[in-house]
Amino acid sequence: MSNSDKKQLREGSHPMRRATDKKPQKLMLTIKDVAKLLHHRSRIDDEQYEMILKRGDAQAARLNSHLPKNLAKKEIYLPELASPAQVITSFSLEIPATQKKLTEDAITELIAQASGMEYIKIDPLKLELDVVTDQIPRAFALKNLVVPIDEKEGVVTIAVADPFNVRPIEDLQHALGIQIKRIFASRSDVLKILEEFFGFQASVKAAQVDMGLSSELSNLEQLFKMRGRDEIESSDQHIISAVEFLLKYAFDQRASDIHIEPKRDKSSIRFRVDGVLHNIHTVPVNLHPAIVSRLKLLSRLDVAEKRRPQDGRIKTEHMAKDIELRVSTLPVAFGEKVVIRIFDPEILMQKLDRIGFYQREYKLYSEFIRKPNGIVLVTGPTGSGKTTTLYSSLKTIASPEINIITVEDPIEMVMEDFNQVGVQSAIDVTFGTVLRNILRQDPDVLMIGEIRDADTANNAVQAALTGHLVLSTLHTNDAPSSITRLLDIGIPAFLITSTINGIIAQRLLRSICQECKYETTLTDEEITYLDLEKKDYKVWEGKGCDECRGTGYKGRTGIFEVLEFTERLKAKITDRTDMTEIYAIAKADGMVSLRELAMQKMFEGHTTFKEIVSVTG
Ligand SMILES: [Zn+2]
Repeated sequence: MSNSDKKQLREGSHPMRRATDKKPQKLMLTIKDVAKLLHHRSRIDDEQYEMILKRGDAQAARLNSHLPKNLAKKEIYLPELASPAQVITSFSLEIPATQKKLTEDAITELIAQASGMEYIKIDPLKLELDVVTDQIPRAFALKNLVVPIDEKEGVVTIAVADPFNVRPIEDLQHALGIQIKRIFASRSDVLKILEEFFGFQASVKAAQVDMGLSSELSNLEQLFKMRGRDEIESSDQHIISAVEFLLKYAFDQRASDIHIEPKRDKSSIRFRVDGVLHNIHTVPVNLHPAIVSRLKLLSRLDVAEKRRPQDGRIKTEHMAKDIELRVSTLPVAFGEKVVIRIFDPEILMQKLDRIGFYQREYKLYSEFIRKPNGIVLVTGPTGSGKTTTLYSSLKTIASPEINIITVEDPIEMVMEDFNQVGVQSAIDVTFGTVLRNILRQDPDVLMIGEIRDADTANNAVQAALTGHLVLSTLHTNDAPSSITRLLDIGIPAFLITSTINGIIAQRLLRSICQECKYETTLTDEEITYLDLEKKDYKVWEGKGCDECRGTGYKGRTGIFEVLEFTERLKAKITDRTDMTEIYAIAKADGMVSLRELAMQKMFEGHTTFKEIVSVTG
């Protein structure tokens, strides 16, 4: 095929396409067809079936009047129609006798089965960007709602949103001289991927065109020599939209971090999702500085400073929610590496009774933080959710009548309700120096990010003794051992007993995915490990499904070991405290250990045996 053929095809003006262009092929699958199928396979009952027949068309018309705005008016006609599966999904039906929602995925999978096609739930984190955006022309993909999935031995597999839209794909096969295998995916998935992937990629390509670069990567080297590496401006409209697409995509994927890393000949973009890094995009190396500059500008960093690490933040919005981004840059061999940490206020700041507390622990902890003065310690390793507990606690007690000051290293999330001070050791703004001056700021409540040394600990004690409530964290394994830690730091026993309101230790346990949860029993080995009486124990696990990316877990819940400073306990805290004795008294006074709390979560079906072993080991 000639180059002009290819060009015409890319632009959608190839003669082979014209016949179908003029008169769009009608979707052959009707709402009625799909409703029949669902009814036949018992996914809906008689009543639901009748309702769909009666209201389906009107519902479709309503949906079609709300097109996704970015795609709506551009280059598409076929996708303008909501698929029958989407129309039926929009009724939010429950599958009879299951309490499960009838989802677009479930309907799509059923249609695939019935039509003998393979079904795929597209996981955007597993797609290879080069394949997705290079194999099939963008205009064609958008027009026909197809997403290239992979290429193996000359066969390009594509996901299609409409199983009956065959002609254009046959034409393309012909024109490009490639073999195409079609598999079926939900229309919502296909639209989402097309918008996000091609949106980002289109911006990147357009930015290159602005630079006078062709979009072919092979020409880049040559152009480096012609033009400066930093030629493209971060103010370039395409760079601005590429960064926007990237952030939006990260929010949609529930990513916790974005890594943008310069390599010798490309820049790679990765997301961390549920603790694991995934490759997302590769962009031409010459655009890396512009993307980094744009992010530095947004986070108010010094754009010209490229040899020193910098930290900044961006406050933005997604789906009517504030989101806070912490941006950090680091000079590496091939340029500046950027890591963006994403803070979702809904996770960092929650209602205290929603983060996993059991009633007894919740009641005690609430009393600790409602006292007018004293120290409340939250302990646990990094990543155990201490910051969420602290922020949520401060939010609970915040009111216009009290002055809350936090000293953090660094500030995790900027909150208007609190006065926050970030530690900056480089200019000698340390925990110590801030705390020495902070009482003059007349705080009622003080939050100290972490007690690491004697200086900070003494300041906390002084603040508590002078009538302030102090919340802080300690890096210890359980609540009772915090007492030894404080003694080791050099706080005398009588100051510990007179200032501490209470101590909690916490962990986060992954929650079992509700979609693929199944019942099982503990094995003999597991029973022995947990030191339980020999009998049958009912527990649950997650099999792994699309909803949880095959992990069997979704979301996390906290467990909180609460050490109450009872008179009996205080009497035993001396400069030569015996830990076993402290532990015994705490237990006798009602303390439930992390392990016991974790087991309770397991027996209630919130988490698994494996998870409690890995977290409370
Ligand atoms: Zn699952």
